Amino acid sequence: MSSRKTAILSVYDKTGLLDLAKGLHDQNVRLLASGGTAKMIRQANFPVDDVSAITKAPEMLGGRVKTLHPAVHGGILARNLDSDDSDLSANSIDKIDFVVCNLYPFSETVARINVTIPEAVEEIDIGGVTLLRAAAKNHARVTIISDPKDYHDFLTELKQDGEVSEKSRQRYALKAFEQTSSYDSAISDFFRKKYAGEGEQQLPLRYGANPHQKPATVFMQDSQLPFKVLCGAPGYINLLDALNAWPLVQELSQALNYPAAASFKHVSPAGAAIGVPLTEVERKVYMVDDVEGIENSGLAQAYARARGADRMSSFGDMIALSQEVDLPTAKIISREVSDGVIAPGYSDEALEILKKKKGGKYLVLQMDPDYVPSNEETRTVFGIKLQQHRNDAKISPADTFNTVIVPKSSSPLPESALRDLTVATIALKYTQSNSVCYALNGQIIGLGAGQQSRIHCTRLAGDKADNWWMRFHARTLSLQWKKGTKRPSKSNAIDLLCSGLVPDSGIERDDFEAHFEPGHVPPVFSADERKAWLAKLEGVAVSSDAFFPFIDNVFRAARSGAKFVAAPTGSQNDGVVFETAEKLGLTFVEQHLRLFHH
Ligand code: 5GP
Repeated sequence: MSSRKTAILSVYDKTGLLDLAKGLHDQNVRLLASGGTAKMIRQANFPVDDVSAITKAPEMLGGRVKTLHPAVHGGILARNLDSDDSDLSANSIDKIDFVVCNLYPFSETVARINVTIPEAVEEIDIGGVTLLRAAAKNHARVTIISDPKDYHDFLTELKQDGEVSEKSRQRYALKAFEQTSSYDSAISDFFRKKYAGEGEQQLPLRYGANPHQKPATVFMQDSQLPFKVLCGAPGYINLLDALNAWPLVQELSQALNYPAAASFKHVSPAGAAIGVPLTEVERKVYMVDDVEGIENSGLAQAYARARGADRMSSFGDMIALSQEVDLPTAKIISREVSDGVIAPGYSDEALEILKKKKGGKYLVLQMDPDYVPSNEETRTVFGIKLQQHRNDAKISPADTFNTVIVPKSSSPLPESALRDLTVATIALKYTQSNSVCYALNGQIIGLGAGQQSRIHCTRLAGDKADNWWMRFHARTLSLQWKKGTKRPSKSNAIDLLCSGLVPDSGIERDDFEAHFEPGHVPPVFSADERKAWLAKLEGVAVSSDAFFPFIDNVFRAARSGAKFVAAPTGSQNDGVVFETAEKLGLTFVEQHLRLFHH
């Protein structure tokens, strides 16, 4: 067996090849190369042998088989073990020390418009991937160079030290593994688009977040999509909403043992609720008092509550429902402006109604309730990959709210408070941060999402809770709408009235008044009327996705009827936050999980 070192070269991209060949030759390395690579080296008058010199077999099948041979791969994969050495000598095979290889340009080929499948197939490199993988696997002994940019450093090290260090071999091996991995991803991406049934493992989307972001697609790498499209065509944001809203309702339903619903917009809930029976007044406020059979459907009542929390924000929502959708729930959905729904199933009558919505374009997704996502989640931002363990923390009424900080000698929290804190906290887990949520009666009543400052979240959520409560005022309940006023216009006018934003005069005032029967324009709420009514809001549960940095949050929560507050601790101001809560008569519970979500 020769003591001279051997390199095998097989490169598609021949950049820097001759400098490399010269450098190796200067170091007395024997060069073996595949057809085109050998030809170029030979033409430059450097000594090189064809791979066939060791395989004793010609390249065949038009180049499909060039280096695939035990003489090559035995020489690469052999370790410095006696048993490997005797195997090699029994077969007259020499060890190979360096492998230089880069692959056919599959990605570039398939990026061409109208590329055919046979054209793409010919660009699938077999032997090159095998060379890369074999040499990278045996990097304890072999050096694999897969990037022409590394030729210079490789030669410098070889010249200086007569060998390549373990550290360099590891670095080069990692690069080769990354290359084979992204090469295989490019191949499977191409064939997934060609061969995977649409809606099974992949689904093309009209566009991404915006119409100019094309193409767009949703896919799974190793299994079927866990949802089926029963009607319509999902958009990118619909799916972001649906795939956040679904786990929210699934968790809520499991934690509280009730049907649950969520109404999502721009990847945060506008509302979420469990199916606590609605009172007569609630049915009126949520505009579902005429829905037949609603009192017998927990799911319909859950959605009425979710949609009723903040009707303006829910306009055009993506809905998630935890159970099979029944007729009353479908009836509520059918008359609201909504983009789509995701649920584990639909009764025949419910599906029939939903399929008629939006001229047959309403998005209806059926989710596999047994689907469990993998623990690792990866996303790409600005071309850079971020990976984290999925937020699989469990929130439950029994275990999450046990650490009462103030009042010091408190009795256990009432069940309704545990329920509402659970609703608020699970909602936050799926809300863009920062986020603060107010809940009552098993539903969100105000949610502040995506604000950079916590107090802005607390105020936003508090203002929404106030607005929600003003809708229960006798004046709001007895509005006399002009005939033909549509539901969204009613919601907008109610929102203006309840938030105290109706102007005194001008065309905006005229527009507001035009919603009502002549002589029945509601007077706006005076400051005293608002104050008196808001003072009646009580027993509210407030949860925060991170600690309160200042006492202003506690002041604001208390103004909207907060009685129970759950938040993580850890602020420098924890002490005064707790003191303030105690002074205001609030129960402050430490919630151990920070729940940022982005
Ligand atoms: P050459 O230009 O030397 O003829 O071919 C170099 C290319 O062939 C490299 O991109 C390398 O990955 C690829 N290659 C090496 N061995 C084989 C093989 O056995 N079969 C196929 N299809 N490609 C190979």
